[in-house]
Amino acid sequence: MAPDMTRPPSSVLEAPPPRFSPHEVSIIANELFGVIGRAIDLGSERDQTFLVDDGGQCAIVKISNLGEDPAVLDLEVEAILHISRVDPELPVACPRPADGGYGDAGLTAYRPTVEGPDGTHFVRMFERLPGRPAAGAKLSDGALHEYGATHARLNLALRGFFHPAAGRELLWDLKHAANLRPLLGSIRDKQQRALVEDVLDRYDTQVRPCWGGLRAQVVHGDLTLDNVLLDEHGRITGIVDFGDTAHTAQVADLAVGLASLLRERDDNDVFRSARLAIDGYASRIPLEPEEIAILADLVAARLATIVTISAWRVKRYPENAEYIEAWDADSWALLELFAAKGADAVSHEFGAPRPHVATGELARRRRRVLGSALTDLTYRDPVHVVRAEGAWLFDAGGRRLLDAYNNVPVVGHCHPRVTEAVVRQTRSVNTHARYLYEPLVELAERLVDSMPSESGLDTVMILNSGSEANDLAWRIAAANTGHAGSIVTAHAYHGVTAAISDLSPEEWPEGFHPPLVETVVPPGSASPVDLEMTRAIERLARRGVRPAATYIDGGFTSDGILTPSADEIAGIVRHIHAAGGLFVADEVQAGHGRTGGHLWSFMHYGVTPDIVTLGKPMGNGYPVAAVITRKDLVDRFAVTTDFFSTFGGNPVAAQAALTVLEVIEDEQLVQHAARVGSRLIRLLEELGEHHPPIGEVRGRGLLVGVDLVTDTSEKTPDAALADRVVNRLRERGVLIGRTGPDDNVLKIRPPLVFNDEHAEVLAESLAAVLAEESG
Ligand code: PMP
Repeated sequence: MAPDMTRPPSSVLEAPPPRFSPHEVSIIANELFGVIGRAIDLGSERDQTFLVDDGGQCAIVKISNLGEDPAVLDLEVEAILHISRVDPELPVACPRPADGGYGDAGLTAYRPTVEGPDGTHFVRMFERLPGRPAAGAKLSDGALHEYGATHARLNLALRGFFHPAAGRELLWDLKHAANLRPLLGSIRDKQQRALVEDVLDRYDTQVRPCWGGLRAQVVHGDLTLDNVLLDEHGRITGIVDFGDTAHTAQVADLAVGLASLLRERDDNDVFRSARLAIDGYASRIPLEPEEIAILADLVAARLATIVTISAWRVKRYPENAEYIEAWDADSWALLELFAAKGADAVSHEFGAPRPHVATGELARRRRRVLGSALTDLTYRDPVHVVRAEGAWLFDAGGRRLLDAYNNVPVVGHCHPRVTEAVVRQTRSVNTHARYLYEPLVELAERLVDSMPSESGLDTVMILNSGSEANDLAWRIAAANTGHAGSIVTAHAYHGVTAAISDLSPEEWPEGFHPPLVETVVPPGSASPVDLEMTRAIERLARRGVRPAATYIDGGFTSDGILTPSADEIAGIVRHIHAAGGLFVADEVQAGHGRTGGHLWSFMHYGVTPDIVTLGKPMGNGYPVAAVITRKDLVDRFAVTTDFFSTFGGNPVAAQAALTVLEVIEDEQLVQHAARVGSRLIRLLEELGEHHPPIGEVRGRGLLVGVDLVTDTSEKTPDAALADRVVNRLRERGVLIGRTGPDDNVLKIRPPLVFNDEHAEVLAESLAAVLAEESG
């Protein structure tokens, strides 16, 4: 029998253990429980535990110490009965009521009494479960995982349970680890004592302050290998001994189980084994960040508890030393291993995130390993982000930065509903679109419903990025028209693929002009759209090329943020249709409510696209994009090709996108963007009255451009000023970008949860920066 370390130093320990003989226990078992069989003493330190062999299932009889509190025995019984009701498959050893006629009805039937020479003892009988004792077992990888999972199941089964006696104070409960200090004098070896002191010091700073905020419930309290039975595969077949049941932090209970699993492992296997068991636990009870952060410290505290109580008890009962100290050597070895590694490193081994690296060093490493093609970091002083919420980013130094730039987190950074949807779907299933699942179909139906009625936009294809969506749109356009040319605005950006980078003049190298692409000066300039389109089509025709499509970003984001008239856009559509090409509304930037008033920016212009592409904000950061078009166009495309994208429309992506649409609707962000956007534009226009470098404020909804110029009459673009302003704003904790062919337009494109207060912070900061510039 494993050493009984389940009780605190308390009155129970002061009373001498009961001394019934096996023969007497046979008689007790028969008289109280009607079980006839030979009793075999299993050994126990404070109580007496017997196996009663009735030639069949057998039973366990426990005779309690005189000091035992009946309320605690009731707590154990009620906890076990609760578990077997909630999760009947969990193999907990159930108590057996005394035979009819004895005792009262109800709980007391589970603890009849027997008179001994020293007084009255409670007697309990438990069923005997199959399996072999697990003490000292080294579980296989699979068994470690299952052990963790079973532990979590046990906690789940106890979640709704309470009993007044569960509030009792046990020294074994890690909640009270600080109470070990008075016992430390019992540890004779100074170095060993210092090890425990270090663990308790760390507990005081890392664990104690957050204890009150941890998930807590009634737990088994001692789900160690000493208290389980295993089958030949190491699976738990029996859970016994609820003697330490109490109300405490759930993660502390996990730590107790983990500490026992790590015994007798090689040093280099300890943390791997811990992680496998934690994975098992987390497969049923995902851990909260606060729990992960302190888990290793709790395991250390458990080890410290074992060695300290052991030292204390050996001093009082030297004759029992061997029994009491059975696990000491292993616990000391683990404490030494933890100390040698350092508490922070051990926490990381248990899954806690590492402390952040210094920003400069991280930037150097980024450059070294990610190569030169990856775009430069924004800002001279790079933003090293570690966390975000709503319209705010938080950097490694804990500084808050107002995000007036990022359109991907459209419903706000880390929106709780979206992150939860992603996590929940990730936990249930994530696969690909060759299987059937609801979120993809629901998303597609919802997107179709969001298109103007009568538009015929009834078919959806889901991909992973705006570039992919535009690339697929291109293939559909080419397949349907049989044409090879395209027309885009002069400084447009539509993506990175080979086909689409040709359609992205913003990225063309100096002097490069793909022969199949023509550009038009965007609407709103001196040159009328009609003329621009006519000439572009003519230029293509001269090279023997006909246009398959015109792509338009409804916010003209890369062209400097423009808001042309409906007539101008209608003109573009008319011309491309007349030339036998399709009109692609690229909503990758301007969609999802960005421009306010409508979910899709093309709706401001009253035109009907042949193809709509979506991306960036679609999953609030989870990669997902879409093509929405007409069935006839897809059918013709499908004649020559099959289409499949491994990640495209996977359940998690679809769920993310669906949830984003839901949140936009629930939070009325389309209307909000229109209202806050107008206010922001007004504030910036007012600024313009006092600051001559503001040549023009343009935009719609929360896509706003501020044109910076050197002189107001000529309106010469001032890119250098824009660069300084962007960097100065960053120093003041406000993030915006730059855009336009001359890179002189301040690009303001915040998450749509950007509110009046944020708009004021932005306007005030910009005012301050411009004042510095002029001063
Ligand atoms: N279209 C537009 C209008 C964009 O702004 C972008 C990205 N900036 C894309 C397409 C390409 O999207 P992605 O980067 O997700 O491939």
